[in-house]
Amino acid sequence: MNWHTSTIEAVFKELQSSRDGLLADEVAKRIQQYGPNQLQEKKKKPAWLLFALQFKDVMILILIVAAVVSAIAGDMKDAIVILVIIIINAIIGFAQEFRAEKAIDALKKMAAAHVRVKRNKRVEQIAATALVPGDIVLLEAGDMVGADLRILECHSLKIEEASLTGESHAIDKSADPLQAEDAPLGDRINMAYKSTLVTAGNGKGVVVATGMQTEIGKIAGMLQEREGTTPLQKRLADFSKKLSFIVLGICVVLYFIGILRGEKPLNMLLTTISLAVAAIPEALPAVITIALALGAKKLVKKNALIRKLPAVETLGSVTYICTDKTGTLTQNLMTVQDIWQHDKFDLSIPGIQKEQALLLLMALNHDSKEDHNDNNKRKGDPTEVALVEYASKQEGYNDNWKQHFPRKQELPFDSDRKMMTTVHATNGAFVVITKGALESILNICHTTDHQPVTQRSDTMAEAGQRVIAYSCKLIKQLPSAGDAVALESDQQFCGLAGMIDPPRPEARQAIAECKTAGIVPVLITGDHPITAAAIARDMGILKQEGDKTVTGVELGKLSDEDLNGGITQMKVYARVSPQQKLRIVKALQKQEQFVAMTGDGVNDAPALKRANIGVAMGITGTDVSKEAADMILLDDNFATIVKAVKEGRRIYDNIRKFIRYVLACNFAEILTIFMAPVVGLPMPLLPIHILWINLVTDSLPGLALASEKADAQIMNRPPRSPAEGIFARGLAIYTVWVGVLMATVTLVTQAWAIYIGDAHWQTMVFTVLCFSQMGQAMVSRSEYDFIYRMGIFTNRPLVGAIALTFILQLAIIYLPVLNKIFNTAPLTLIELGLCMILSTITFHAVELEKFIKKKTGNKAYSFI
Ligand code: ATP
Repeated sequence: MNWHTSTIEAVFKELQSSRDGLLADEVAKRIQQYGPNQLQEKKKKPAWLLFALQFKDVMILILIVAAVVSAIAGDMKDAIVILVIIIINAIIGFAQEFRAEKAIDALKKMAAAHVRVKRNKRVEQIAATALVPGDIVLLEAGDMVGADLRILECHSLKIEEASLTGESHAIDKSADPLQAEDAPLGDRINMAYKSTLVTAGNGKGVVVATGMQTEIGKIAGMLQEREGTTPLQKRLADFSKKLSFIVLGICVVLYFIGILRGEKPLNMLLTTISLAVAAIPEALPAVITIALALGAKKLVKKNALIRKLPAVETLGSVTYICTDKTGTLTQNLMTVQDIWQHDKFDLSIPGIQKEQALLLLMALNHDSKEDHNDNNKRKGDPTEVALVEYASKQEGYNDNWKQHFPRKQELPFDSDRKMMTTVHATNGAFVVITKGALESILNICHTTDHQPVTQRSDTMAEAGQRVIAYSCKLIKQLPSAGDAVALESDQQFCGLAGMIDPPRPEARQAIAECKTAGIVPVLITGDHPITAAAIARDMGILKQEGDKTVTGVELGKLSDEDLNGGITQMKVYARVSPQQKLRIVKALQKQEQFVAMTGDGVNDAPALKRANIGVAMGITGTDVSKEAADMILLDDNFATIVKAVKEGRRIYDNIRKFIRYVLACNFAEILTIFMAPVVGLPMPLLPIHILWINLVTDSLPGLALASEKADAQIMNRPPRSPAEGIFARGLAIYTVWVGVLMATVTLVTQAWAIYIGDAHWQTMVFTVLCFSQMGQAMVSRSEYDFIYRMGIFTNRPLVGAIALTFILQLAIIYLPVLNKIFNTAPLTLIELGLCMILSTITFHAVELEKFIKKKTGNKAYSFI
């Protein structure tokens, strides 16, 4: 059926539905018939393929070939062990990737949208996936359309369909049938399509298609969201590639040195390739994904839902947090404290006394509803509820006003106009009531003497009150619907209401924490500058001498240059429009700042997109703002942003710890194998030894490092520069000296053992290198703090991983079966004790380095 050319009646007939919506049993039937309303995900790689892909690495393939060749040449045992180790490696890699994928899936599910439908003759909120054809969906500015709809009713409804048609301007919708059967999607203005965004107005539609039958479903294949790679992942992938070439070069040289010294070519091939497999950190980018995905999962528990994975990494670089006030810093629990009626104001409506006049306006002009299913409790925006409830408790209030002054028209509140208007019938005339920000109201009033009014309002604002002004007029005839100019003009000023909104108890603390962490908190609000400044002062945002409060009007007058010059002093922006938020973000970014910005409305979307971390509100936020954001605050709380930043810093720190650990260990392995022949020693390790060390050191201890708790000082450090490279802050020099030291300890063990004629020298070398790396894992837990002070046992997973490796290594040394497989020999107690002592050398050297760094104020490497 051609929905757009059909009349609404025909559509209902076809869908067997009505304006009252479907009944529960019909819904159940249809969900069976049509399935859930969701797009099929891109075909996931099946588990076997994910496993098989673990072997795609060229080095691993060459190693397998070499092992098979060596098996054919007679060394069956070695070949089998190599294959087993490779398979175990693949299983671990597979398990990790699988876990990361699950974590990402779980996050996606949580971000799923909700819609309002009319079912069982009632309005209900349901998950968008539960929509079925025939459902009646209510649309409102800020919503994302849940399925393909034929529009039934609309009031100034505008929908942005860029995701479907590429057209970035919002389209005005209509409910009338169209003529052209083959009209392109963009011209079907009586339709609304799944995943498009309602930017203005409201309306209703009936679902005509769900899931893969929707227009977006038909092109779903093209729209699969690509998981963004993070800056660090990109840098690491590049680095791994370069490192691979270097390692391969070293391996080639090593191969020829070995041959020249008379080693068997096949043995040398196995050794060098094992070394290449061990030394190339090909798993690093994958490990980062795991760390980020698990971090994101942890953040959800702290009420921050990450929509884009790279945000987890970049959170740690935030230097500015630009936040809303209402609901984010404050509790959004409005209570009217004080009202003031202008002496000159009286309504000339029979039956309404002068002292009742302002109460009447407060009782009529609102956007809240009594919920009959919930004890007639008033529901809606807390500002609205507070004003009506206050009026209803005052002497002179009359319960019948609602019936006597029925509402005929309304212009909803928006944060650009900063006011809302309702029109009510009264004895053959109409009373127009407007409430909003004082400036907006004075603008539409014919009153000229503003002074007493502003004075009164300023006193309220200085006490931190949010001030709402009221005005009204009587008209004889209703203008055409939506005519804002006719309604919001030439009014009489009536009075003020001041309300308080208590701060969130944790906000002050969070702001103080921001400051010690080198992050500047900034308040951007639609509220009056005096109220905003009073609250900002109370919270600690406005503190220093030069801190400024700027209004939207002042901001409008500033040139880009002046704004860029003065922006670091501006701590409070009041009466700004959402468009100005975008300008503020851009100006801050010009100053090389890394900005997190909150927003909840449709118009906030551009600023959220532009900000380095766009933060949407989970409770009060619109779908549009959530779509544009990188992170959603499930509790709308400022303190949650600060927690997320802290978590972001912790995750980045831990990734860096892992990189330090892996690079230093790998470098030590290469050096040991490469330097032995250079200094005239035999090959220190067999290929299986190298592969074994690679297996036990890279996998479990690496992951355990990702669970390390945050350093105590983590929020006392300045933010990390987002441009920071992998080797920043002395990582390169650390890798070199730790690698050299570990290799030296290993080679000295080898040389000395051979010198005294110890037949177990190879087992000792193997053990020293393995244990040294465990020590390195332990010491990598913090770049700054001493492990002895942190407590050896405080990272349980790491202790577990090290204990397991230790036991396995002992098994390899002492179990006869494993002796045969690994070519090892049981060490005497003295030999074992010696190995253990030698392996702690690198550990203690790094602890000493931390001490030196502390003494030199962390500037140990400042010379490079
Ligand atoms: P924030 O931007 O921090 O959330 P805010 O809630 O004060 O602060 P807006 O919602 O843009 O910002 O409101 C701007 C101004 O508009 C308010 O200070 C108030 O004077 C007025 N206002 C807010 N809500 C309403 C409403 N429901 N009806 C009429 N006027 C309102």
